[in-house]
This record gives sequence, C-alpha cells and structure tokens, in this order.
Amino acid sequence: MKLKRRGLAIGLFLFILAICIGAILFLYHYKSGMSTVQVAVIAFVMIVIWSLAEGFLMKTLVDTSVYYCPDCHERIKPSAVEYFLTMRTVNQAYLKCPKCQKRRWCKR
Ligand SMILES: [Zn+2]
Repeated sequence: MKLKRRGLAIGLFLFILAICIGAILFLYHYKSGMSTVQVAVIAFVMIVIWSLAEGFLMKTLVDTSVYYCPDCHERIKPSAVEYFLTMRTVNQAYLKCPKCQKRRWCKR
C-alpha cells in the first residue's frame, strides 16, 4: 500500500512536471521566439519525462492489481502485457484463471 502511494505520487509529480515544462515551452516560444532546435530539445525532454511518468503509473497499477477467480477464488496476478491487452473495467478484468484454465470476468 505504501509502495503504491509512492509510485502514484512519483508518477503524478512527473506528469505535472512534464505539463509545466510544456507550458513554459509554449510561453517562451511565443514571447522570445526560440530556435527550432531549442524547441525540439525541450520537447524531447518533455516526452522522456512524460514516458517515465506513464511508466511509473502503469507499473504501480500492474504491481497492485490482483484479481480473484469467481469460481475457485484463485488469486490471479496478471502480467503487464496481459493486463494491458485484456478487457477491463474499473474493478474487473477478463482473465484466464491458472487453476480452472478458463477465461472469466474476475473481480479485484
Ligand atoms: Zn478459477
């Protein structure tokens, strides 16, 4: 739980940082007219920070996602790939239970 909070906090912080850099970039660009290279470099840095933020948030989400089979109540921990490819709602995911080997809507 503690780890989840920290991951989310870091992710959100990086998101905000990326948005701030973006805002500053646009303001500066309109005011002083930076060169294309400068804009490109800052945009690149922004994208890197943004990806890191997303990575952090996604990793935290995947790490803390545990589902339970509705039939046998087996604990299902989807892999990152499975997590993103499967159909999902806020508290349910369409996963394959490792015990019954069937795909079902599993609750968190
Ligand atoms: Zn099952």
